[in-house]
Amino acid sequence: MRSIHDNLQAVRERIARAAQAAGRDPGGVTLVAVSKTHPVPALAEARAAGQRAFGENYVQEAVEKMDSLREEENASPLEWHLVGPLQSNKTRVVAARFDWVHSVESEKVARRLSEARLDSQAPLNVLIQVNVSGEASKSGVAPEQVPALAAKIAVLPRLKMRGLMAIPEPGAGVERYRAIKALFDELAPLGVDTLSVGMSDDMDLAIAEGSTMVRVGTAIFGARQKIRPAA
Ligand SMILES: *Cc1c(COP(=O)(O)O)cnc(C)c1O
Repeated sequence: MRSIHDNLQAVRERIARAAQAAGRDPGGVTLVAVSKTHPVPALAEARAAGQRAFGENYVQEAVEKMDSLREEENASPLEWHLVGPLQSNKTRVVAARFDWVHSVESEKVARRLSEARLDSQAPLNVLIQVNVSGEASKSGVAPEQVPALAAKIAVLPRLKMRGLMAIPEPGAGVERYRAIKALFDELAPLGVDTLSVGMSDDMDLAIAEGSTMVRVGTAIFGARQKIRPAA
């Protein structure tokens, strides 16, 4: 098995190739290393290889990792992304500990996040998860509801409305990616800059179709075990 260091290097090269093929600047695509279910030493190895942004799905698991990795923290801090579903009873800890939330689906949750975010912290970066029909995930807001929700989130004081997240179903055609990008472009008047689409299997296509942030787990850390800790 290749090391996490080698895997990260290979993923970075894949991202650069996909961006260049699309005539885009590779620096315009952020890599979030999705580390759910993987232990702290795996994250530490990725960090040693220069990775800064980590994505987690389960709040409790993420907070434990943040606490263990903080002691070794060097000059450049890690950036934590919640990419899994967000339950409304977890908004306080999420607002306190994360830098990004990719899975906002309601005004209620957004409002709670804004209320819980401290004035001493930078605004919490949020993405609306959109479900363009046919997605494998049941999560996400219907496309026609996205513009109104985005406008409401954009005025919340402690949040920064950054864009959209989507999980196209495996094997989805290019038109699905284009529909997501078109919806993202509609939000341009709000100043959004982040389209979080693309995982281990589809990051190349997602980048070709305008993704600015890919969430990659398996290609960096290897396969996950089936058993998952409770959220
Ligand atoms: C697990 C997960 C990923 C990473 O998926 P891989 O196929 O392992 O790259 C990305 N995004 C979300 C929302 C996830 O839950």
